[in-house]
Amino acid sequence: MNPRKKRHSSTPYPRKRFVFTMIGLIIVGAIGGLTYRLSLTANVDQRAVSLGMTEQVANRQRVEQEEMEDNWQAFMEKERAQLKTSAKEAAYYTNTRIAKDAMEANWTLIPAKAAPGDVILVRHQEPAELTWQDKKYKLLSFGTGYYTYVPIPITMKAGKYPIGDQFLTITDKKFETQRIQVTKQMESMRQDTGRIEADQKKINLARSKSSPAFLFTSNFMQPIEGVLTTPFGYTRYVNDKLDSRHTAIDLAAPEGTEIHATNDGVVALADSLYLTGNSIYLDHGMNLFSQYAHLSKLLVKAGDRVKRGDVIGLVGTTGFSTGPHLHFTFWANNTPVNPNLFFGTTPFHWLEQGAP
Ligand SMILES: [Zn+2]
Repeated sequence: MNPRKKRHSSTPYPRKRFVFTMIGLIIVGAIGGLTYRLSLTANVDQRAVSLGMTEQVANRQRVEQEEMEDNWQAFMEKERAQLKTSAKEAAYYTNTRIAKDAMEANWTLIPAKAAPGDVILVRHQEPAELTWQDKKYKLLSFGTGYYTYVPIPITMKAGKYPIGDQFLTITDKKFETQRIQVTKQMESMRQDTGRIEADQKKINLARSKSSPAFLFTSNFMQPIEGVLTTPFGYTRYVNDKLDSRHTAIDLAAPEGTEIHATNDGVVALADSLYLTGNSIYLDHGMNLFSQYAHLSKLLVKAGDRVKRGDVIGLVGTTGFSTGPHLHFTFWANNTPVNPNLFFGTTPFHWLEQGAP
């Protein structure tokens, strides 16, 4: 081989190699660049993804935090409301110790000892309906518990009777008899059953709706001073004939004497009735009503709100009556009950009085 030729012939090789190398470099560079770009993009995506995840986690944590705060706030609000409700209920009792005992017990009889013609207040932790002497009594929500008045029938025998998980002791009580003489004209009043029944319908309607709360906050008062002429529970003979049980007290007082509302309440009925004359029924809530009869004048009307001590009418002798007096009683769940239990106190305070 000719060295020149060799040299000559060798000349195109490096050029070719250079071109190939350049092409190779370009390709490698392109691939490298692309790879780098791809990896850069991938990195950015990766960062974006991880950023997104962090945000999600943060969001979730924030939501959880907010939920926890909301729950805590709701819990605290509920606690505060519960405390307020229970404080309101406890305030009805004589003191906090008695309130605590009554409100922590499953069943509480207020009081646990009573006489025929009395009424007790029953408290239970749960909504309930109790059956007592063949009648049903629905306990109504008040404060943190459920309450109902339970009247003790005037004919009830002494003994121990179960109510809820407690026992009610009924003591013995004798009621005396009273004989009154009335004119033949008055006696014939009792015969007009049509008018008597029509009045009874009005009274039943008025007593069928009662506020679902205790409307009083202080002691009940005697509506007039007066002279007690017929005590509660007397068996009455009118013109020597057995008439009825006098389930009220009669307080004699001069005509026109002011009659005061025994406690806060709403006028359920203020009307002229046949036998009881001008009559008022006040609703004190939870199916407790006070009744005022034989008034000369009514000074309130149905629906009026009255405060303890307000003058609601004047003493008279209207209806089946032999002289100016106030016939006064309480009705608990449609049963007349001894009004003397209420004066100067409230049913909630009977717990202390009835405690051994
Ligand atoms: Zn009377």
